[in-house]
Amino acid sequence: MNELAIYIHWPYCARICPYCDFNVYKQRADNELRGRIIEDLKSWREWTGERKISSIHFGGGTPSLMSAEDIKNILAAINSNWPDIKDVEIAIEANPHDADKIKWRAYAQAGVNRLSLGVQSFHDPALKLLGRDHSTAKAKEALSLAVDIFPSVSLDLIFGWAEQTQALLQQDLDIALQSGAQHISAYQLTIEEGTAFAKAQARGDIKAVDPDKSADFYDLIRARLCAEGFEHYEVSNFARESHHSRHNLTYWMGGDYVGVGPGAHGRLTHEGKRYATVAAMRPDAYKTEFLEEKTELTPTAWAEEYLLMGLRIETGISLSRFKEIGGSELDETALIDFKNAGFIQIAEDRIAATTKGRLVLNMITEKLLVR
Ligand code: SF4
Repeated sequence: MNELAIYIHWPYCARICPYCDFNVYKQRADNELRGRIIEDLKSWREWTGERKISSIHFGGGTPSLMSAEDIKNILAAINSNWPDIKDVEIAIEANPHDADKIKWRAYAQAGVNRLSLGVQSFHDPALKLLGRDHSTAKAKEALSLAVDIFPSVSLDLIFGWAEQTQALLQQDLDIALQSGAQHISAYQLTIEEGTAFAKAQARGDIKAVDPDKSADFYDLIRARLCAEGFEHYEVSNFARESHHSRHNLTYWMGGDYVGVGPGAHGRLTHEGKRYATVAAMRPDAYKTEFLEEKTELTPTAWAEEYLLMGLRIETGISLSRFKEIGGSELDETALIDFKNAGFIQIAEDRIAATTKGRLVLNMITEKLLVR
């Protein structure tokens, strides 16, 4: 538990995708942000003390819009605050559109050893519908470059867009599997409030398929990727051996992470207490005052979060850890019912959701928690 992950949020994107509800802003020249992120990291070092860094993740927004020099300087700042980041996972999210051999080689030289590519689909009409600025050809080219340069490559796919068929989904999976990427994240298209897609849907313009069809797509993805040797280790994530996202596992396993950059979230355990932090959302506000919120979680809220996040992963949660944090007894009847119905598995100290259970996690956790 002494390990610490670091998340760096780069909030700018070349354009805003119509389904996106992240904390993102249209790209603009911002020469100050990198320096402020470095300052923010320093202030966290004072609070966390010396810790072993387990992973560093550049997310966004589009962090691949950052120069290699920026990445190098931020990594150097992390290294000077928490020594020894030699063997840690250092990942960056990238858009196919930004693929650039010289820049990506410089990222790798700076220490980045994993690249996560926002492919979304290998079908041009789907990319158009999703408002993406790359083509299938560009996605393939970017993947081939990524696999050449980085020891670990992940790609994101979105399924459940209007007019998707099983054949089109199989085609996306075929290309993803041939690409050499060792990790695949498959996200269901959801229409989030406040997005351009939500407005389109309100006008009767359908962007996503119905939930039953989406559930069939999910089954197909799981069956195909598992048959090809991928491990389905989290609701939306599949990995070849030793290519799991170490950084995301920190979130799901209830570990500690510092979040820097506009709107970044963090979770930190300090002197036996658990804190949730949120950085100021807007880049200009962040430059004036890093933190917007730092809240001490009650033991119950901490334990519930541990349960909710932990049931997302194949290995589930430790019951003794749940109780140690402050979780109350779980509802015995619900536990037995869920076990008999094949939603969860219980083995000694651990509870894990089955594949079927991971589809209805909210219902399971709601019933398990005695409030
Ligand atoms: S590129 Fe990614 S982060 Fe940026 S708007 Fe699109 S989906 Fe959101």
